[in-house]
Amino acid sequence: MENLSARLCALSPSATLAMSQKSQELKSQGLDIINLSVGEPDFFTPDHIKEAAKKAVDDNFSFYTPVPGYMSLREAISRKLKSENGVDFSPAQIVVGNGAKQEICNVILSIVDKGDEVIIPTPAWVSYFEMVKLAEGVNVPFLCGQEQDFKILPHQLESLITPRTKAFLFCSPSNPTGAIYTKEELAAIVEVLAKYSKIIVIADEIYEHICYSGQPTSIASFPEMKDRVVIINGVSKAYAMTGWRIGFCAAPAYIAKAVSKLQSQYTSGCSSIAQKAAEAAYNGPQDCVEEMRQEFERRRDLICSAVQDIPGFRLDKKPSGAFYIFPDVSALFGKQTPDGKVIANADDVAMYLLETGHVAGVSGEAFGDPSCIRFSYATSQAKISEAMRRVKEALAKLRP
Ligand code: PMP
Ligand code: GLU
Repeated sequence: MENLSARLCALSPSATLAMSQKSQELKSQGLDIINLSVGEPDFFTPDHIKEAAKKAVDDNFSFYTPVPGYMSLREAISRKLKSENGVDFSPAQIVVGNGAKQEICNVILSIVDKGDEVIIPTPAWVSYFEMVKLAEGVNVPFLCGQEQDFKILPHQLESLITPRTKAFLFCSPSNPTGAIYTKEELAAIVEVLAKYSKIIVIADEIYEHICYSGQPTSIASFPEMKDRVVIINGVSKAYAMTGWRIGFCAAPAYIAKAVSKLQSQYTSGCSSIAQKAAEAAYNGPQDCVEEMRQEFERRRDLICSAVQDIPGFRLDKKPSGAFYIFPDVSALFGKQTPDGKVIANADDVAMYLLETGHVAGVSGEAFGDPSCIRFSYATSQAKISEAMRRVKEALAKLRP
């Protein structure tokens, strides 16, 4: 073994980014791969946001930024949280970082001690588990199947709570399932959490604008949850700004202060130019968000109807938000590929579809559900149709 820390050795690489990288490599070898692996809008960042970034360069926003982010950006986020989510977080309770990813990790590192348990309804985004591991916490995943729309039920949540439970971490709209907790479902979850005042809720709302059933409710809007919820959000998905790397946490003041302290030691405040762009995103016109949302909805309808026509894929319900489908592919396990390999699990399905169909998806394994596979439909309708045609064709070659 190389001379690496045990902490690092225990960490898995990001399955989403690994699959995306693999499909880039195959593309550069000349293969015509359709990449439905990584979750990232294919749209360009809206012009008024790009203009704000150019102006920031010309206005010499070139110095170190405050560790938690420019006050003007945190004020814009505070206003957004009030007007769109009905929640009160002052700028002092907001920390801006290099994407929502960094802020989730910062929050976990700030509150989780060795042995502390973090309840995570699964399937869930791949990085949560690894972040908890980094903090030497204990993942408490709970598999919520398709029959319960991939959402945890209040009694299931309560059965997982122990004196070591530190946090409940969930994502709505969800990556990878697209499921959204309704206001009523959240109210029932809040009723359970209200009994356990020490548990901190980390609510990942990064997909809040990509939603096909009206504005989702934030768990932070329940009065019982006051001073116990950390909201995670950012500009990556709503404004097609994945590469700009701006996300934030909005938290009880003591957590925001801790996150800022942590950030001061290992990354400092994030990019000045990207922050000014994010400020323009929050303060500027919002029609771009709605236009992209509408196109995502058309793509969702397209991919869902195509999947209904693919034997071996089971998707009971159209996802309510985000830009992923997460069909069950366990009906394919045990089948044989044309070159005699047996498909044993979702990893094998993903690999077979990549190699034979030239379509990249991500196995459900890393999301905590080994019977499913995830496809991102944040790509053109033409590519979605062609990808599903290829998937169907490749699967038709499998032998029982
Ligand atoms: N949360 C979820 C559920 C995600 O899918 C992602 C992936 N982009 C993130 C957080 C992180 O987003 P970013 O770091 O680009 O803001
Ligand atoms: N969150 C996106 C995904 O799940 C982007 C890649 C990543 O950071 O995981 O594909």
